[in-house]
Amino acid sequence: MRQKLFVGNWKMNGSLVANGVLLRGIKEGAADVTGELAVCVPAPYLYQCSEILIQSGIALGAQDVSSHAIGAYTGQVSARMLQDFGCKYVIVGHSERREYHGETDEEIANKAQRALAARLTPIVCVGETLAQKEAGRTREVISMQMRAFLNVLEPEETLGLVIAYEPIWAIGTGKTATPEMAQEVHALLRELLVEKSPTAGGQVKILYGGSMRPENARELLQMPDIDGGLIGGAALKATDFLAIAKAVI
Ligand code: PEP
Repeated sequence: MRQKLFVGNWKMNGSLVANGVLLRGIKEGAADVTGELAVCVPAPYLYQCSEILIQSGIALGAQDVSSHAIGAYTGQVSARMLQDFGCKYVIVGHSERREYHGETDEEIANKAQRALAARLTPIVCVGETLAQKEAGRTREVISMQMRAFLNVLEPEETLGLVIAYEPIWAIGTGKTATPEMAQEVHALLRELLVEKSPTAGGQVKILYGGSMRPENARELLQMPDIDGGLIGGAALKATDFLAIAKAVI
């Protein structure tokens, strides 16, 4: 049985004051959450958030990591640095990074490897655009994105992954994949994991992301291969984030 996982992706939101209010709100309501909670915060706030989250049971994560280990890479943050701040998770290959920063499948694979080498859990994101969906190419696109990083990992390394299916047309748009549509892709993702490692196929968590809200979380979370959520907008309000996490039956 895979424990559910709910990860807040704060993106480029927050401030010292707002982060304190949000995290205290999450901590106050977290006692009766049965799954795991995590927040992926902007890099400058990692220290602040790590201090607030000490002994809370809520995990800390980052939103990106360098594909390099160390050196002359101005502006980048290494996996070792994230480890220094007590990060457990790091989002890798979010569609906003693929689109606005030109991240390639190869770079994403390297980032996932760097994260794993530093004992972080990469949350690797895959997802199709609206045009790809309408052209009936969802399965092909998802398979290509998955194989690109699974091919460079050893079978046992895949056990250290979390996968997030984030249809790009659903991110921040208020449109959500129906539970059946999401389940079909999650089942495909699990098949691809099984091809690489049967153990990973059973153990790796596959999150859904894309306009997940308290109102639609329950039906998505009832699907057998949806193991939680990667949550953007709704993770910026403690009550909404907690309501999603508590929508598990
Ligand atoms: C995201 O960007 O990871 C995301 C899922 O955003 P939202 O929940 O706002 O659609």
